[in-house]
Amino acid sequence: MTQKRVFNFSAGPSTLPVPVLEKVASQMLNYKDSGMSVMEMSHRSSSYLEIFNETKDLLKKVMNIPDNYKILFIQGGATQQFSTIPLNLMKNGKADYIVTGAFSKKSAQEAAKFGDVHIAYNGSDNNFKHIPTQDELDIREGTSYVHICANNTIFGTEWKYVPDTKGAPIVADMSSNILSKPINVADYGMIYAGAQKNMGIAGCGIVIVREDLINEHKDNIPVLMEYNTIAENDSMYNTPPTFSIYVLGLVLKWIDEMGGLEVMQKKNEEKAKLLYDYLDTTDFYKTHSDKDNRSLMNVTFTCPNKDLDAQFVKESVIAGMTNLKGHRSVGGIRASIYNAMPLEGVQTLVDFMKKFEAENK
Ligand code: PMP
Repeated sequence: MTQKRVFNFSAGPSTLPVPVLEKVASQMLNYKDSGMSVMEMSHRSSSYLEIFNETKDLLKKVMNIPDNYKILFIQGGATQQFSTIPLNLMKNGKADYIVTGAFSKKSAQEAAKFGDVHIAYNGSDNNFKHIPTQDELDIREGTSYVHICANNTIFGTEWKYVPDTKGAPIVADMSSNILSKPINVADYGMIYAGAQKNMGIAGCGIVIVREDLINEHKDNIPVLMEYNTIAENDSMYNTPPTFSIYVLGLVLKWIDEMGGLEVMQKKNEEKAKLLYDYLDTTDFYKTHSDKDNRSLMNVTFTCPNKDLDAQFVKESVIAGMTNLKGHRSVGGIRASIYNAMPLEGVQTLVDFMKKFEAENK
């Protein structure tokens, strides 16, 4: 079965670990002698609650989440959080946003509907190839929170440091780099991500939020958008995305058994190095991101012209790879090399790139 799989470089939903898919397949018709699939279970049943609690415990363990943080399973993807964050966390009507790509721009635009949003840095002038240094940030004193996008999926840039935000909590969109490396959760007021890249499949997202930021009820926001309500009901105010949470649990188990996030980081650095080292030896391909800000997860580059970009994508399919076409705002090629992409996939890509260069120089 696995021999027919392609190397899938999709930015999301993306490739999953084969052992996770095999486990899902083996449990599909009859989960642990329950006589039914996980999809058919009541979210209040003991079988499902075991899955749910195990997933939450594993996330806490794998990410080393401190006790004073709540873990929420949410729906509506990361995009829904663009609205939910200001509704809950814009305590004094002010928030600062660092705009390093399409998603942080969207989140800032959404927040501006609800209060005074200050753009502390805007990378649109350089088509988002750069992550600002501390000196380039203009953060206001007394702002409610500072929002960042930790990894810019479209542009292929990633934060390599935690900015000083003058005491304001950092709210970080980690949709495309969560679980790729260890982080210190306590550096953030809130972390959020959609599951469909490094965490599993579309349907659920997670919010990890410091308790003291959500300790009061707000009467004037929709009930399912209030973190306090979701936390008080342990993410079961209504039916959660049960299957997606189950897959997240299996992905976390896979990570844990491999040795956790330190091991993931080592593997991810090895894969990214293979690709970037080659890109640095050639003038044929040009990387989009500044060298210091390169993403470990999304590698973006262009061929010498648009025709060759298209030809590259076409021929890469014949070579056993898929979803390498870059996003229209950058063009060229994007290789998303999340946790589940094996080194062999990246080696196949680099071998293909060398051949393509030799044939088209
Ligand atoms: N933020 C980032 C960094 C993303 O990559 C994406 C999706 N690609 C989103 C937000 C939006 O996520 P969703 O589609 O889950 O709403």
